[in-house]
Amino acid sequence: MSASINMLSGLGDKGPAAIVVEANGKRLLLDAGGALHPGEPVTWARGLDVDAVIISHDHIDHIGGVSELPATLPLYCTPLVAQALPNGRAWQPLPERGTCQIAGIPVTTGQAGHSLGGVWIHLDVAGGIFYSGDACFESRLFPFDTPPPAQIALLDASYGTYDQPQQACVDAISAHLDRPLVFPVPETGRALEMALWLAEEADARGLSLAIDPIIRANLQTLLALPATLRRSHVDKRIEAILVRPDASQPSLNLISDRDDTAAMWPGFHLLHTGYLTPSRCAELAAGDILWQRWNVHLCASHLVGLADQLNAERVVPLFTHLSDPALSNWRTLLGARLATQKTLFLNTDALNTHVLNANTLNNRSLA
Ligand SMILES: [Zn+2]
Repeated sequence: MSASINMLSGLGDKGPAAIVVEANGKRLLLDAGGALHPGEPVTWARGLDVDAVIISHDHIDHIGGVSELPATLPLYCTPLVAQALPNGRAWQPLPERGTCQIAGIPVTTGQAGHSLGGVWIHLDVAGGIFYSGDACFESRLFPFDTPPPAQIALLDASYGTYDQPQQACVDAISAHLDRPLVFPVPETGRALEMALWLAEEADARGLSLAIDPIIRANLQTLLALPATLRRSHVDKRIEAILVRPDASQPSLNLISDRDDTAAMWPGFHLLHTGYLTPSRCAELAAGDILWQRWNVHLCASHLVGLADQLNAERVVPLFTHLSDPALSNWRTLLGARLATQKTLFLNTDALNTHVLNANTLNNRSLA
């Protein structure tokens, strides 16, 4: 039995996620990412021919390209992620944690520790193909489920080889809390855990806080899920936030990221905690905004730990630059397991799964 993996987009930079796995004569698209930078075209969908698409989570670089796909293409995602689909888009449910068959391919999903309704995806073909989507070990709210073994690991390396623990991030953000701040955050992701932390910090320091209603609503949604879909011992802390009134003149504001600019918040500093678009990089360089990461992706040591756990023969770091010096750092971290080819071919015989020399085969198949 053979399979192939074609990274249409998301390999070599922080770009839209779109990966095609072909196995058992069927082709599955993993994620349908949209442009991270406003105005950039989505090109990976041109001429695409697949049997179904599976969406890992509802962030734009994973779901924003669904509108480029035929409306009749079967689409699988969890019910919470489905809320972010274009209006009227048909979808079929993917388990938050469990197994199903999609186009005849056995699929296992588990909690990815990154966002509300978000999952990793494991395909039981050719010794196992694991795709993390966006994943994190350090969330205070979202659990990370241990996946089954996989020969091939396609892993979230959005942070490159960065390896700071979350506590260092929290300490650095804490140092800013004595000034009026606005935190624009993705409303289904780090917003929820930052709400918990900020409420506790505000109480401890006597600071005033307001939390965006959409973030409160998503906390309510998280609390309504089966308890196994959130970390233990957080329910009382979420309940406390839901009854906590917003301050009338807050010094701290946790808001859904709607591209607010510094000019819209006179007297406040905008503190970003995630990916910066080029225009935000320019704002940061000009001193108009602040930035301090709050970890929501795999740090390098966690990525390596996950690759070990999977017992992966080949590991593809996704959503990150793969030119030197980063490439040498990945080689040091992953050794012979590092794979950076756009296309991987796998052959399974009775004894072994072989990852074939993708470049050679790719050239041959193109010839
Ligand atoms: Zn994400």
